[in-house]
Formats: sequence, C-alpha cells, structure tokens
Amino acid sequence: MAEKTAPGRNPGNTAIIETARRGAMLVDLVRRSIGDNLRRSNDRRWEANSEHCPACRRKGTSANALSVFHGSDGNWRWKCQSCGEGGTAIDWMIAVSGNMSVLEAARAAVGNEAIALPAAVAATPAAADVETEDEKQKTRALVHCIDRIRATVGWGSEKVLVYLRSRGISDASTAALARNGNLCTLPVEPYLAHRMLCEVLANEQHSGEAWLMKSGLMKEGARLTALAYRPLLFLGTTWLEARIIRAPKDKDEPKGIRYGKQSTPLSFRNGNQPVAMITVVEGPIDLLSKIELGVKPNQILVCVPGVVSWKPEWLTAGVKGYPTAVWELALDNDEPGDTAAEKMGRILAGVGGVWRRCLPFVGKDINDELMSMRTAV
Ligand SMILES: [Zn+2]
Repeated sequence: MAEKTAPGRNPGNTAIIETARRGAMLVDLVRRSIGDNLRRSNDRRWEANSEHCPACRRKGTSANALSVFHGSDGNWRWKCQSCGEGGTAIDWMIAVSGNMSVLEAARAAVGNEAIALPAAVAATPAAADVETEDEKQKTRALVHCIDRIRATVGWGSEKVLVYLRSRGISDASTAALARNGNLCTLPVEPYLAHRMLCEVLANEQHSGEAWLMKSGLMKEGARLTALAYRPLLFLGTTWLEARIIRAPKDKDEPKGIRYGKQSTPLSFRNGNQPVAMITVVEGPIDLLSKIELGVKPNQILVCVPGVVSWKPEWLTAGVKGYPTAVWELALDNDEPGDTAAEKMGRILAGVGGVWRRCLPFVGKDINDELMSMRTAV
C-alpha cells in the first residue's frame, strides 16, 4: 500500500513519521490487533494467518500468509501474501483504521509506542476522573494544543540543549525522546516563544491566543503564556510539563508547571525484544537520564511527572500486558520515593507482578547518579 502523501517538511511531523516508518513498534501494534495469533518465527520475522490481515481478512487460504518482518534496510514492515497488501507501521494503522491520514496514522503508531503499557491502561478511567462539561472542553483544547506542539515545534533550541548537557544529557538522548514525540523546545526569548506558539496553534476555529486561553495554558489578563518562560516541554498524550532551564530563584519556585490530566504515563523503548523489564522513574529529567545511561532492548522506561500521580490501574494493566516482566521502581531515594514504591509494590504483588526497589548508586535520583559518573570521567 503506497502512503497517500509525502511526509511534511515540518521537523516535528517528519520526526514522528520517520519513527513510525522505522516501525520498532510494529510487532506490538499488530499484536494489539490480533493478539497471540501473531506467532514469532525468529528474531526478524513474525507470522499469522491471512484471516487476520486488516486488508482482506481472507479465511481458509494459506497459513502464515501475513508476516511482520525486519527488512534489510532496518525498517519493520508487514505483508499479506494472500492479497498483496503491506507496508510500514503507518500503512498498518491506515489499514486497521480504514480512514486515517498518513500523519494521523504515524501519530497513532508512535503514540502506541509511547504508551507501551497496554491500551487497557487508557481505557480504565478512575471514578474520580468524571469531568464537568467545562473541564471536558478545557481538556479537549489542551489536547489540541499538545498535538499541534508535538507536530510542529522541534527540539533544536540551542540554549535548552546547553542546559540539558549541563545535566549530563547528550543531544542524542534528547533527540531520542523528541523522536518519540515527547519532547520539544521553545525559543528561550519569552516573547518569541509566545508568538511562535500562537502561530502554530491558530487554525480556522480560533486564534492561537484563544487556544492558549481555552486550554488553560494562558491565564486571563496575562501578557504571555506561562510556557514562554519555560522552554523545555515534555509532552504526554493529555498532559504537558513546561520546565525552566536555570536554577529556581528560591525554594518556592517550581522547576516545572504541569497542565492537564495524566491519563497515561509517558514511556520509552529502545528495541523490539519481548519486554523483560519495566523501569518506573519519577519525572522526565530522570527519564532522559536513564536514556543517557542506556536502555536495554527488552526494557520499557515509564514515567509520569510527580510520583504521587501514579494510578493503580496503570500497574495492574501493565502486569496483565507483560506478565513476565520484572518491575524496577527507580523512584527518588527519599521518603516520598520509598513510600510510593512500597505502595506500588503492594499493588504489583497483588496481581502477581514481580518488583524490586532500584536506588541510584549516588545521590537522590538518576540524574545525580548520571552527574556523578560524568564528573568521575
Ligand atoms: Zn490480505
């Protein structure tokens, strides 16, 4: 199946489309559609009967006609010998959905990778999450803003990269999280950042400033959105965290402001091997630090900003989705971290999950550990 349009020139869109085309998530996507009907034949090839092909669903023809394979160019693809359809993870999403654009399909594929914990996670809102109509509208506006920012704002703001390097995080790790669709950087000059956001958010419905107000990203009477002063953005599906790139002015100034509901954690994978380890970290800087320290091909990193935001259903769904994986709770080495880890451990153990507490060798968190290694070199 040929993709319907060429990838956009926009760096954000291009990054998402490229990630989807590489298709590290394709086996997971297919498995999500057809479950255990997808059988592994070797490291580079998986197969299923043609009745599971989203294009033809042909019954009774040759077994194993549908294959998912790692191509010689390094990209994952699928192919149905029965009807001839096939292609990248983008084509898979288009075939399964029936009506997605290339960009929508790429976002869905990458999003599914980002939410490596099973779809069940997103489908279990807690009772306390019931929203009023006003809150729903605000959430929808925020999701619009997050999607636009993800698709259009890149990650090349040099001063932000300099800051991250000062925290021991290389551009390669920053790029990896940006490719995953979870990191963007704004110009560090607040007025420029604000104007850029207004430009990318504006559409035929509302001006950019109206979107900022509707989504809660800008307060009534404010001159600029608060994001304009916090150029390092971490993007979840329904939440966003904007962080300063300097030391806080005093102990009361927060390093980051969060917007939106954390209906799903943010996650990161570096390979396509069956998942053997799920590592939970406290926030996006720790996530980047862990990426910098190295992610195994059978490991998933998961984080939400703020350890108290963890929801029990994420853990139970995670154990269901990856019953043999060991959970590594790499929360901060302090009392709130210990308390949260114990609570999470009880929930995991309650549904048969195996877990262990994982403390940094040095200091309070993974970034301390990373920084100590950097100074030791
Ligand atoms: Zn087919």
